[in-house]
Amino acid sequence: MLYSRIVETYTEIEATTKRLEITRLLVELIDATPRSIIDKVVYLTQGKLYPDFLGIELGVAEKLLFRALAKVTGQTEEKIMAGYKKLGDLGTVAESLLKDKTQASFHREALTVEEVYNVFDTIAHEAGKGSIDSKLRHLTGLLGKASPTEARYITRMALGRLRLGVADMTILDALAISIGGGKESRPVLERAYNRSSDLGHVAKTLATGGIEAIESFKVTVGRPIRPMLAERLSDARAILVKMNGECAAEYKYDGLRVQAHVSTKEVTLFSRRLENITDQFPDVRQLLKKNIEEEAVILEGEAVPVDPSTGELLPFQLISQRRGRKYDLEKTIGEIPVAFFPFDLLYADTIDLTDRPYLERRERLRKLIRKNEKINLSQQKICNGPEALDEFMEQAVADGCEGLMIKSIGPDSTYKAGARGWTWIKYKREYKSEMQDSVDLAVVGAFAGRGRRGGAYGALLLAAYDKSDDVFRTVCKCGSGFTDEDLNKLPKLLEKYGISHPHARVDSKVVPDVWFVPGLVLEIVGAEVTLSPIHTCGMNRIRPGAGLAIRFPRFTGKYREDKSAEDCTTTDEVVKMYRAQLKKIAANPLAEAA
Ligand code: ATP
Repeated sequence: MLYSRIVETYTEIEATTKRLEITRLLVELIDATPRSIIDKVVYLTQGKLYPDFLGIELGVAEKLLFRALAKVTGQTEEKIMAGYKKLGDLGTVAESLLKDKTQASFHREALTVEEVYNVFDTIAHEAGKGSIDSKLRHLTGLLGKASPTEARYITRMALGRLRLGVADMTILDALAISIGGGKESRPVLERAYNRSSDLGHVAKTLATGGIEAIESFKVTVGRPIRPMLAERLSDARAILVKMNGECAAEYKYDGLRVQAHVSTKEVTLFSRRLENITDQFPDVRQLLKKNIEEEAVILEGEAVPVDPSTGELLPFQLISQRRGRKYDLEKTIGEIPVAFFPFDLLYADTIDLTDRPYLERRERLRKLIRKNEKINLSQQKICNGPEALDEFMEQAVADGCEGLMIKSIGPDSTYKAGARGWTWIKYKREYKSEMQDSVDLAVVGAFAGRGRRGGAYGALLLAAYDKSDDVFRTVCKCGSGFTDEDLNKLPKLLEKYGISHPHARVDSKVVPDVWFVPGLVLEIVGAEVTLSPIHTCGMNRIRPGAGLAIRFPRFTGKYREDKSAEDCTTTDEVVKMYRAQLKKIAANPLAEAA
């Protein structure tokens, strides 16, 4: 397949923001793709070579691309760098330089998708001595054969910045229409995706085995399952109504969610966003290796830091540092050890357990774990009255937890991979701030700081996720809560997301100094949710012409690196918060007046 065919679709996708149009373009692309390379075309369109959980990055530095482009175009690196500074996108620079050059020379060999993929794959696997020269040779080879438009995308891809803004769900829609027999097959495809976190694998399974293969798709050890998520409520009675009068209440530990894939050969740990975090938690790996009575297992649990002298649970932030690069792992493990609390079992004894009810999964999990002071099942109690729930809540908080996770024990209590639903409800104690809970928001823009903050960002533009339209809508501008350390760190953290224009999936009336692709997620608390003429979150949902904003937003200090932008608080949740506030005021108008 010619690479120019893919590039044609990319160009058209970039020219539209309409999801239906993007789907149509992708359907045409999939129709034109030979079945044998469907997975590669899917990965390339996502701007990668493999599913994220494998952690394989292309790893081409800007500098190397300057060199490759200089060689291919005959321009100096300085000129290329200057163009990059001006346009903010090296892909566009490559394209225009090659346009100038192609006028002089005509003959070139057409690039194929297979060739582009294979060269990138070789580059991604190159390491050690001589690898830089070899990467340079490969890049120069590719760019030397590329048309100007192809060079635009090859350059962006090499830098890890393809950023077409195509959502996973749109690719699933397109696969359903093109190969799955119609849009009706989208739910089964999504089910397979939720059980494998690998769109390329789903596409290949569909292309080779048909929809039957997708219908009988099973989880496998080594491929992470997209996590099941919870709704939230802050009233025990309301929770019990949702649970039909009886539920399992578990301690809600304030730690890091870990999905462990345990086989005789190895233990692999995945974070909530399904990154491979095995190397950061050798202690958890060891715990699981020693204390599991089965050969191949997938389980989920919470890793929580504990005080080595008292055994008390400590705040989550203490282990979040393990995710940074510069730390002395052994020292950290000694000083702040971790306890692990498994809470669900998704696969064991060659059986995919995600379709089994909660109580069965829990019982199997209990039998599987050899417990000790470092590893133990999450504390659990079956409750059928609000008093029992509240009593257990008190106990959880006294034991250092955030609250309870309430889980259905009915026939609907299967593990719903990748979905947020009412069969799991988080029940947290009330926060001191007036807003009932913190929100996790995606950074979509920044404003330059003035005065003491000169040279740093003065405030960030934050957005909630509108799931149904697959768009990020702004909800506040936040400048408080940032320490000097945060202010130093933010430009570095945000660098890789910078773009020169608003991202196609960002809906904002506010114009910041810098735009970002939604990627970094921050935890924010505020005083309340208010109607807003300028923010687009929940626009027209409460009142025509008005959106919703968070008043007095403040960064809590928690970088939610365990969340992707699509995992942040949704616009629906913000609307719900606004409505809940109204109810509270109606119930107690004096409190509001005060
Ligand atoms: P999300 O609901 O999107 O995960 P969040 O991380 O902000 O957002 P939390 O308020 O932290 O949501 O609640 C859900 C998280 O609680 C789970 O992802 C998991 O990491 C953690 N957790 C702690 N204890 C349990 C438990 N017993 N069962 C399930 N999850 C638990």
